[in-house]
Amino acid sequence: MIFIQRSAAPEILNLVGQVKIRAICEEYDQGKRTFESDSFDKKVYGHQTVKQALILMQHGKCCYCESKIKHICPGDVEHYRPKAEYRQQHNDAIQKPGYYWLAYTWDNLLLSCERCNRQYKKNLFPLLHPEKRAQCHKDDVCIETPLLINPTITDPKNHIGFRDEIPYPIDDSIYGKTTIKILGLDREALNESRRDKLAVLKLFVDIIKKAEASPNETALQQLAADARHFLLEAIKPNAEYTAMTEATLRKHLIQLFHDLEK
Ligand SMILES: [Zn+2]
Repeated sequence: MIFIQRSAAPEILNLVGQVKIRAICEEYDQGKRTFESDSFDKKVYGHQTVKQALILMQHGKCCYCESKIKHICPGDVEHYRPKAEYRQQHNDAIQKPGYYWLAYTWDNLLLSCERCNRQYKKNLFPLLHPEKRAQCHKDDVCIETPLLINPTITDPKNHIGFRDEIPYPIDDSIYGKTTIKILGLDREALNESRRDKLAVLKLFVDIIKKAEASPNETALQQLAADARHFLLEAIKPNAEYTAMTEATLRKHLIQLFHDLEK
């Protein structure tokens, strides 16, 4: 999970989305208290222009696990604050309504892989102080302290570190810990993908270290130059699992990492 700089809102949300929000808030004011998932217009919040904007903003990756969004697994437009219903904890009863007034709000939308969204996060949205939860559109969500890291607001690297390919909460951060758990960021399938990448990273790190120890070996220097090029690509935000790559390079190749950052 890496920090994502939010881009400008797609036009459809500013135009049609705003109208939809007003309509749903009016329904609430008239006494409606439950908005099922199908009460929301997916053609608007999940519009192609919204999805494209999210793909571009997130460098083609799941906002949570950093797996590439592929045509065979196109990803979900995901509501950070769940639109229809929510749960504080896994075994809690479902609470309604959800954050219906944020269903078409750009700042509440992200693109996630189906696994992170449908199998793990689902409608979980725990708060540090659940009693402060916004209950309707008249409440201010700014008083909430969500335990799930929003990568467009908080830099995940301050809360989630990596021991090799395995994520862990830095200094036992409750935000890191909850985020890893809710999203299953330590699930075996992800660990396996990161492990594969890590093996290649370590190979290149070794080459660079050997080259540094033998400055007169021309062939080795050439290999090290290629390795640096590979690592430079691997920490670009459009590469998969950049958070782990960055943590690995910081640990093993501090000087090289500083050079790459320049
Ligand atoms: Zn994911």
